[in-house]
Amino acid sequence: MTTPPFAPVTEDDIAVVSAQLGRPARDVVGIAARCICGAPTVVATAPRLSDGSPFPTLYYLCHPAATAAVSTLEANQVMAEYSDLVLGDAAVAFAYARAHAAYLADRDRIEVVPEVAGISAGGMPNRVKCLHALVGHALAAGPGVNPIGDLALERADWSPLVCECIDYTDKT
Ligand SMILES: [Zn+2]
Repeated sequence: MTTPPFAPVTEDDIAVVSAQLGRPARDVVGIAARCICGAPTVVATAPRLSDGSPFPTLYYLCHPAATAAVSTLEANQVMAEYSDLVLGDAAVAFAYARAHAAYLADRDRIEVVPEVAGISAGGMPNRVKCLHALVGHALAAGPGVNPIGDLALERADWSPLVCECIDYTDKT
């Protein structure tokens, strides 16, 4: 897990992330989390893309097995359950609001982009709209920062501690 400032991104990392996503990875500013084997699991993208457009989603889950496992959770009404949790549990709501603030602070450490001020990702601070974004944040920040991301990661049929990687750049 890694939050800004990030180590410089290598050509190899960009190649693997591009292969994982199935498209060229652009404006990558860091690898925020990795599998135990070293393969990227969360890519960090610049708050302002090279074409000038603002980009609020700092952390993006790029690992195919992780993304699939989280998609399965989303398909099983887990977001509605977690939304109820945020609405109904004051301690979770407080921690979730703090996660929102942490997310914005991470992003501002890279670049402050006024157009996305106060806008984080995944539905924070009040709603649960994208578990991929929240799990990405949880993996980048480590346990105890994003309560909903932590819950989803525990429940997902994927773990950064169990390598399921393939050679993503193998074109054969
Ligand atoms: Zn791996």
